[in-house]
Amino acid sequence: MANLEYVGNYINGEWRLPVDREVFNSVNPSTSEVLGAIVLSNSTDVDEAVSAAKQSFRAWRLVPAPKRADYLWLLAERVQERRDELAKLMTLEMGKVISESYGEVDVVIQFCKYMAGEGRRMYGQTVPAGSPDRMIMTVREPVGVVACITPWNFPLSLAAYKMCTALVAGNSIVWKPASDVALCAKLFTEIIDSCDLPAGVINTVFGSGSTVGSQLAEHPDVSVIVFTGSTEVGKKLAKQAGYHLKRIALELGGKNAVIVLADADLDLAAAGIVRSAYATSGQRCTAASRVIVEASVQQALEQRIVALTRKLQIGNGLDADVHVGSLANNSQLATVQRYVKIAQDEGGHILCGGHRLVMEPWQTQGLYYSPTVITDVQRHHRIAQEEVFGPVLAIITAQDYEDAVAINNESVYGLSSSIYTNSLHYANRAARDLESGLVYINNGTSNAEIGLAFGGLKQSGNGHREVAYQAFDVMTEWKTVYTNY
Ligand code: NAP
Ligand code: MG
Repeated sequence: MANLEYVGNYINGEWRLPVDREVFNSVNPSTSEVLGAIVLSNSTDVDEAVSAAKQSFRAWRLVPAPKRADYLWLLAERVQERRDELAKLMTLEMGKVISESYGEVDVVIQFCKYMAGEGRRMYGQTVPAGSPDRMIMTVREPVGVVACITPWNFPLSLAAYKMCTALVAGNSIVWKPASDVALCAKLFTEIIDSCDLPAGVINTVFGSGSTVGSQLAEHPDVSVIVFTGSTEVGKKLAKQAGYHLKRIALELGGKNAVIVLADADLDLAAAGIVRSAYATSGQRCTAASRVIVEASVQQALEQRIVALTRKLQIGNGLDADVHVGSLANNSQLATVQRYVKIAQDEGGHILCGGHRLVMEPWQTQGLYYSPTVITDVQRHHRIAQEEVFGPVLAIITAQDYEDAVAINNESVYGLSSSIYTNSLHYANRAARDLESGLVYINNGTSNAEIGLAFGGLKQSGNGHREVAYQAFDVMTEWKTVYTNY
């Protein structure tokens, strides 16, 4: 491992190796090749990063927002210049197919531009004053140091959503990326560094979530925590934030469902279901993991889903012909295997998939799992209730529209739901009745766009939204100003 790349932290505008020398390997899940290693940080490193961010905040908050936004335009250009490098590294490091990686890089570029536009908006209010010769208004003000804690499934976009919003609002940032995608995070940080932001405005600290992430949440000088990841960790962070009276925005899991009514276009529905079930190997918070179908069309729909699923090419995501890449790490593979077994023990029947795939010979170490469809799932089964985060689809029978909506809403999660129907009546009722932050009509469960609030109800989050200006609600304070003239 002579050429192994060691990744240190980026603090106050410079790269520093942490004081400890314990390392974590970043592994290509398609080949099990070690790509690089991060040096794990400890509390001293976290203190240094937070201190740099706190220091830089004093001047950064006074930079006019349109000028702060100029850095985001520049970042968009720099990301565009290194688009190929970023996309390839993403596929190497976490296994998603290269077309998806390019899609993610493009989202980052678009989001930088969208948020740069907010530099000239971030509207407050002016309202008529009740007293004479008086002006009254509200303005948004930055809060301070924002800790961004991000997962491995979208290594760049989930970080960009948080950091660009924090930045244009005038906050400074400490980013703790997921260790599994440390090299992506390092490359993105290098690109950020090339934009010549004032030192300390963005700092990147590598290390495990249970140490670095937790220390950030406890740190007295961190004012805001924005997190995407598991519900379990989200709850821990919410407890810590609550105790210290910090602001926190949580983007958590889902058990997303596609409802298919008897009048639906079944070909369209099957295509949408398969796309949203198996993109990123099902490792998306918005992945479809339940199909709730009216009994009269269940068999016809299942046939179509299985036929499309069997056509999917599984393999190394760098191969342009591959539709579904590997899982991201061993723990994901183990979880998928465990849940497929649980589903069978509960009485579910596998229509296709249901096993690990061993590829020919150069890919034998890859973490491939065949896209899996399970039928005869009952609404109370664990496979119908718990997030798998893998390429596993559970099919549940509904008696009618009301029953389908009730099954959808029985989940503790409420991120994304979809309905296929040609009825204007049922489509509009579904938009009203589905307990989800995102509702799609005649589309799968994951196809969100920049500029609209993204986030979930119930245990999919804590009421905050990102990917749009609504994210300012956690990233800024309202100040009300009264001027008597
Ligand atoms: P996770 O443990 O919640 O990790 C997400 C991020 O939080 C990573 O940066 C992680 O760091 C960090 N973290 C872990 N424990 C922490 C703690 N105690 N305090 C602060 N930060 C902490 O998620 P995961 O292990 O990567 O995936 C497990 C499950 O989470 C998945 O199976 C899925 O159900 C869910 N998940 C959801 C999303 C989503 O988009 N909503 C994304 C990814 C995962 P390290 O990994 O470096 O330790
Ligand atoms: Mg990896």
